[in-house]
Amino acid sequence: MAIFKKPIFRGSADKKRDMPEGLWQKCPDCGDVIHELELKKNLRTCPNCNHHFTLSAKERIDCLADPGSFEELDKTLTSVDALGFKTYTEKIDKYRQATGLNEAVVTGRIRIIGHAAILCVMDFRFLGASMGSAVGEKITRAIEAATKEKSAVVIVSASGGARMHEGILSLMQMAKTSGALALHGAAKLPFISVLTHPTTGGVTASFATLGDVILAEPGCMIGFAGPRVVKETTHQELPEGFQTAEFMHEHGLVDMIVERRDMRDRLATLLGYLLP
Ligand SMILES: [Zn+2]
Repeated sequence: MAIFKKPIFRGSADKKRDMPEGLWQKCPDCGDVIHELELKKNLRTCPNCNHHFTLSAKERIDCLADPGSFEELDKTLTSVDALGFKTYTEKIDKYRQATGLNEAVVTGRIRIIGHAAILCVMDFRFLGASMGSAVGEKITRAIEAATKEKSAVVIVSASGGARMHEGILSLMQMAKTSGALALHGAAKLPFISVLTHPTTGGVTASFATLGDVILAEPGCMIGFAGPRVVKETTHQELPEGFQTAEFMHEHGLVDMIVERRDMRDRLATLLGYLLP
């Protein structure tokens, strides 16, 4: 039995409780506490270590589109609970209220520094931006619209993968979106894929990695299964930086790592090259 007791400090936990919610964010990389206004001004990147925080679909569109140029497509398209999956309908309702979105992807026409394109942006807040039938259908329709209008497609991905609540209906979206992209490519039209944190599962295994040019934000996680699953399946130590954008860039999956503040300019330049 110890003679002296160690003092217990509980200061930080109490302080946290007093903090107004949403006013300060702690950077998961460097631990800096950043004011919401500072973060907003910095396009939600850490001013100290450049960690890229997740963006909502609206914030992403605001970052990329020429002001007032975004024209949304299929806004009301939503998934139905075809398999009678327990609590699925309630979950979808909850995410609709929390995010103000009908589904985990927002699609539409935009202009990026004058260059017209069709943009799809996934919103990770909506059920991990999992790809159910509505997400797949919206992306497919957006690609088909781009093919018809002879326009470029830009898809900003962030996803936990296929939506398990829709079973095989969600898995078939991988083939459907890829098929639409094949027709888009056959029409000699460009597709730029932008990978953001995290892009995983069925989204990585379908449209996200089919870009003519694949861009990624620094430090984002890109993979199929998570590192723990890979480690346990292969019984091997994983290399340092495994499944980061930088690792994928080194190994040829990603063409360019683009910081958020440069993304709009870089997309405009690429669109100018690919679709003059
Ligand atoms: Zn930081």
